[in-house]
Amino acid sequence: MTIAFIGIGNMGRPMLANLLKREFSAVAYDIAPAALEAAAALGAARAASPAEAAAAGDLVITMLPSSTNVEAAYLGPGGIIVGAAAGKLCIDMSTIDPSTSRRVAAQLNERAIRYIDAPVSGGIGGAAAGTLAIMVGGDAADLAEARPALAAIGSNIIHVGGIGAGEVAKLRNNLISGSALVAVAEAFRIGEAFGVDPQILTDVIAKSSGATWVMEHAHPVPGIVDTAASSRQYAPGFMPDLMAKDLGLAVSAAREKRVPVVVASAVQQVYRMASSHGLGREDFSSVYKFLTPSGDDAPV
Ligand code: NAD
Repeated sequence: MTIAFIGIGNMGRPMLANLLKREFSAVAYDIAPAALEAAAALGAARAASPAEAAAAGDLVITMLPSSTNVEAAYLGPGGIIVGAAAGKLCIDMSTIDPSTSRRVAAQLNERAIRYIDAPVSGGIGGAAAGTLAIMVGGDAADLAEARPALAAIGSNIIHVGGIGAGEVAKLRNNLISGSALVAVAEAFRIGEAFGVDPQILTDVIAKSSGATWVMEHAHPVPGIVDTAASSRQYAPGFMPDLMAKDLGLAVSAAREKRVPVVVASAVQQVYRMASSHGLGREDFSSVYKFLTPSGDDAPV
């Protein structure tokens, strides 16, 4: 089976690599020539547009940054909607606004093209290991058809509900992990300011009620977790720009449903500040770099 894979970035690249290691071949497209080059180096054929990739693939997978990019790749000029034959199944694995998923699906459905949303969690480590959690919104029969390809990418595939429901689950997850990372960064900055060794603090928290996935896998202090982005100059990983987008979507969803949100709104601003400090395209754990204490002469 040939997969049309569109969006070969930090996540798309290892996901594509895992598909190519299995029984799949691929035809790839990315607007960035260097990304397309990386896909070709993995063994994928190149397409000149999303439409061309969709026409050549038996199944379409997209892994793009934002709602705008997904609308452009599916519905814009040279988009998937132009190239995909009636009956083709498209899987959008990007993290985007669920209402965009539903809008894109509706337009594709008018041409009998099928669509499910299947965003992921687990970071580039999970993408490389093929162990991502995949949360799916859409028809159960479409998921059954997508499952062999998804199983090459992730190890936990969960059907959440109708179209957009995967995105609803994913954005709730990132509200928690994005907030937890800022809490961990703040805790370690305060601990260090009181002279506590960050390794010892890690050992304590790992055995206590503050233990969290982000400390175990995305520890913001360099040198504590070898595989964390902080131990490789905060190379992404998952970028503050993407986390700011996800928390923004979480805040909008809360407003729509009139749910009060305090933490998500504040934390989104921390990731925006990371962007303002030039860290937007480093790893999200880089917020630790600017959460530094003021000088001793600042009033308390
Ligand atoms: P990325 O910026 O590294 O890669 C995105 C790729 O999409 C880039 O190569 C870009 O050139 C390409 N692109 C953008 N618009 C395009 C278009 N219209 N047509 C074709 N290609 C286009 O981002 P990423 O880290 O790979 O993240 C992708 C998605 O996965 C995002 O929605 C993100 O929120 C989500 N996600 C990321 C992580 C992570 O750890 N990085 C984890 C889970 C989910």
